[in-house]
Amino acid sequence: MITVRVPAKVNVQLGVGGLRADGFHDLANVFFAVALGDEVTARPGTGVTLTCTGPDADQVPLDDTNLAARAARLLAAHHGIEPHVALHIAKAIPVAGGMAGGSADGAAALVACDALWQLGTPLPELLDLAADLGSDVPFALLGGVALGRGRGELLEPLPVTGAFHWVFAVADGGLSTPAVFRECDRLREAAGTGSSEAEVPTPDADPALLAALAGGDPVALAAALANDLQAAALSLRPQLADCLAAGLAAGALGALVSGSGPTCAFLAKDAAGAEQLAAALTASGTCRAAHPTYGPVPGARVVDGA
Ligand code: ATP
Repeated sequence: MITVRVPAKVNVQLGVGGLRADGFHDLANVFFAVALGDEVTARPGTGVTLTCTGPDADQVPLDDTNLAARAARLLAAHHGIEPHVALHIAKAIPVAGGMAGGSADGAAALVACDALWQLGTPLPELLDLAADLGSDVPFALLGGVALGRGRGELLEPLPVTGAFHWVFAVADGGLSTPAVFRECDRLREAAGTGSSEAEVPTPDADPALLAALAGGDPVALAAALANDLQAAALSLRPQLADCLAAGLAAGALGALVSGSGPTCAFLAKDAAGAEQLAAALTASGTCRAAHPTYGPVPGARVVDGA
């Protein structure tokens, strides 16, 4: 049996360019891996089977659309072998929450099956397979902090000093990532700025944000947090503004919607600050649950290979 631990991500910067002819947006995406994560277990089996436990387990598809099952089949096909594995996901990452939980499970399944089937696939090959599965999957393999360009799949690891302490406030019900991108385009059109590649400047990483990460400065990082999808997520789910306000009123250094939402992310000054903030957010009634955590942490890795 192989157990792989994999982190969720928060985008400390999510710059969204104009809509490209292929339907994607160019992104300047600073991914940050947090300790809040899933565990994927791979055992010998017949064909690809999948089970899932956790508070959101009923929202996770257990068919071939699950990214963990797709990852197992893709890895087997890449090596020309039959996929035989019983996968189990212990799910802690909120589903459809803007924390790339499905992508994380895809990355974890690649690593778990690679170990179970003793394939020894080199990391660059795993990263290519991950990019085929989805834009956020390569980062879940890598972890740490990285700048993603293109659709998010071209990754450059970034230097970070120390640990940053976070709270994630989980909402009831998810938001569809494509729907949030469509709303972002619609808001840009309504504002008269246009939404096409020609009309929206190409986004780039913010030097102040990169300096805050490299210097281990949570106050400077809080000031530089930026998410171009936040207005669209708030437009589709206005009550998220109450959650962001509650966290800031309770002493968060900074707050933003995580990716396409609806999970909200708060930066605290230290571990004790994150515990207090999580308790205040839970008591505020503006979210379903609030989890203190920290990062950066490594990407998908085997924690038990017995
Ligand atoms: P992102 O931030 O990458 O846009 P997300 O965190 O908002 O993603 P996910 O939790 O990855 O959203 O789930 C999005 C959808 O993907 C789910 O509604 C579900 O139908 C599907 N899905 C496929 N595989 C998984 C998986 N292993 N775990 C959760 N959802 C999955």
